[in-house]
Amino acid sequence: VRSIDALPKNTARALETVVFDLDDTVLDHGVLREDAYRAMFRLREAGLTLVACTGRPASWAEIVARQWPVSAAIAENGAIAWRRRGAALELFDPVAPAERALRRERIERAAQEIERVYGLLRADDNAGRKTDLTFDIGEHHVVHPDTVRLAASHAARLGVRTFTSSVHLHLTLDTHDKATGFAALALDAGASPVRALRVALYVGDSTNDAAAFAAFGTTVGVANVGPWVRALTIPPRWVTREKMGAGFAELAQILATLRGAVPGP
Ligand SMILES: [Mg+2]
Repeated sequence: VRSIDALPKNTARALETVVFDLDDTVLDHGVLREDAYRAMFRLREAGLTLVACTGRPASWAEIVARQWPVSAAIAENGAIAWRRRGAALELFDPVAPAERALRRERIERAAQEIERVYGLLRADDNAGRKTDLTFDIGEHHVVHPDTVRLAASHAARLGVRTFTSSVHLHLTLDTHDKATGFAALALDAGASPVRALRVALYVGDSTNDAAAFAAFGTTVGVANVGPWVRALTIPPRWVTREKMGAGFAELAQILATLRGAVPGP
């Protein structure tokens, strides 16, 4: 993992897209601050297309896609997305409604068992979810990492996949992750997924960003990725000095400078 200060100019200039995580990357403990929001406009002015990519619910992605300077917002760890189609917004769900309903029933049954055995509490964002179900492991409640690991392997025995972020344990029956979800969206739009990944930079902070850190052409961790680096099979290539939203703003400043969008220091 190298300092973002050493990012080569050619790398910055070859980029077309910046894909960013929300929690603890653009948001500081769930809150969007001015420097992080401003950074999105700097990136767009530097000729980059923005895509949000989060474990948060589809309902959050709809608001982000409507109001923020992004072309799409991928939610629920890659399973589903809201994207712009001209002035309109559309939901991209690769799974048919009948299958979606069956998966929800199976996830609900697994969640009830996990609740009973480990006493986990459901996160407060489940009402807006379409593909997965989440337990709060660090947002409003602290859960020991060993309990999270046991609950995750219990879910696996029930045939349910899990993702762990800094705040939630997700149960899902979908096969996408943040990288394949982005690739599926590119493919559906008629682009080459391989090329789309290569010309995109991904910035994140946690273990639910692992697939993205492995798949995107350029990968950046905000400074708070530190404690998670050892849990990542492939860590981000670059890391910012600052944490969370300030780290995202730092990245935007560096990219804008290297791309010649603002005067260098
Ligand atoms: Mg995060």
